[in-house]
Amino acid sequence: MISTHPFDLIRRRGLMLVLSSPSGAGKTTLSRLLLKTDKEIDLSISATTRTPRKGEIDGKDYFFVDPTEFDLMINRNQFLEHAKVFGHYYGTPRAAVEAALNKGRDVLFDIDWQGTQQLSEKARDDLVSIFILPPSWYELERRLLNRAQDNQEEITRRMNKAADEMSHWAEYDYVIVNKSLDQSVEAVRSILLAERLKRRRQLGLAEFVNGLQAGR
Ligand code: 5GP
Repeated sequence: MISTHPFDLIRRRGLMLVLSSPSGAGKTTLSRLLLKTDKEIDLSISATTRTPRKGEIDGKDYFFVDPTEFDLMINRNQFLEHAKVFGHYYGTPRAAVEAALNKGRDVLFDIDWQGTQQLSEKARDDLVSIFILPPSWYELERRLLNRAQDNQEEITRRMNKAADEMSHWAEYDYVIVNKSLDQSVEAVRSILLAERLKRRRQLGLAEFVNGLQAGR
């Protein structure tokens, strides 16, 4: 026989966790660490028209599509949000996100400020947004050069865009200066823990308390 405990009544509504930053601030590494240690989060895999970098896998890092296919997806309303970033198109496929949220899972988005604004217009209550800043301009440049997966022209373009991207920090719920990866992961985990405990995200709480008051 399956026994149910009264607190099984409490279910959680999944949240949408957005991480944004200029490229090179350490967001991708941070996301990977978070996903490894927190089994309640699914990563939203974006579609993009940019070409894969070395080591990137189609369907894991991105869905790499051509501009015609991307347009088709827009026309079929298959994106939750989409935007042009660094001359390429990026978009969040809707179906996977909705399926995960419906199952009560959280979804992590590695998207830019334009996408965050669009999600905020559509689902403010479900959104938790974090902006990651590099500890210094020098460090940002160093990380981009170290990565060196992009060609020099692309790196210069990204450095120029970084200042522009950082100007959107104040639109986010939380801001983390990524001085140490471990500390930043801890910070994100703490934010998640608190946000998950928000009253409105704990469904069935009223029934649970009613039960407590009735002595059950
Ligand atoms: P990268 O080409 O370096 O992987 O990503 C470039 C930028 O595009 C990053 O700031 C990343 O967060 C953003 N990005 C990736 N996927 C999406 C998406 O689906 N939507 C939006 N709006 N931005 C995205």
